[in-house]
Amino acid sequence: MSPNRSRDGRRLSAAVACAALMGGFATSSTARASAPHVVVPGETLWSISAANNLTTRTVAAFNGIAEDAQVVEGQTIQVPTVDEGAVALAGVAPVATAAAAPVATGGSHTVVAAESLSSVAAARGVSLADLAAANGLASDALLIEGTVISVPAPTATAATSASTAGMGHIPSPSGELHLDPAAADSWNAMRDDSLNNYGVDLYPAGPVSAYRTPEQQQELYDLYLSGQGAPANPPGTSTHESGIAVDLADPSMRDMIDQIGSAYGWMGTIPSEWWHVSHGG
Ligand SMILES: [Zn+2]
Repeated sequence: MSPNRSRDGRRLSAAVACAALMGGFATSSTARASAPHVVVPGETLWSISAANNLTTRTVAAFNGIAEDAQVVEGQTIQVPTVDEGAVALAGVAPVATAAAAPVATGGSHTVVAAESLSSVAAARGVSLADLAAANGLASDALLIEGTVISVPAPTATAATSASTAGMGHIPSPSGELHLDPAAADSWNAMRDDSLNNYGVDLYPAGPVSAYRTPEQQQELYDLYLSGQGAPANPPGTSTHESGIAVDLADPSMRDMIDQIGSAYGWMGTIPSEWWHVSHGG
């Protein structure tokens, strides 16, 4: 694929696209191509993807990098169009295989009755995503007793490379965000209730306002320490990293959750932070 890359950034392209929509699709047939995005401090592959309404997996695949790859300031990430992203995804499925295969030195495992990919992953200290990828399997694939599967070596990033695999999804203006599956289910039910019965939408304030990787939490904590960000917990101590917390976009949303949230297990738990609500607290 050799897209004819434009020099303007993706944000400008998005603005142009909106203008085109408002202008009655006058220019909607104009071929759009991937646009380079230069990473600025505080950004992650996830935040860049979310800002462009793409999944992290899509942008990672398009750039030939791992979904949990760390981007650094000044690095150029190509932001694909939706179509380009789909092509990239189709070409590398399962996405993690290429990255995981070289480190598959952990050995093999013969499946016994009642084992699952996730139970083997937990027992061997590797992420579900890595284990699935090492075997060319979907993370929810069923294991058959007696099958020999390969087990990649545990890595320092095993915990984070699971990233959003197996997580639940909630809608947001920044694109689809992630929560623990039970928390996501109850969030979506609560949101439906709020929307349908009270006319109030509930959504996270930004792309890192629901589930966060430890790296994203570290970035927010660093911003807080430098005086540039809102209060944030040190990495490893935030309920956002467990996928059971959401930072709300507006105080009216908190009012709704104070009214109806308890039926869904959602509530505010930090008195000084109206925006922070968590599940199962
Ligand atoms: Zn929070």
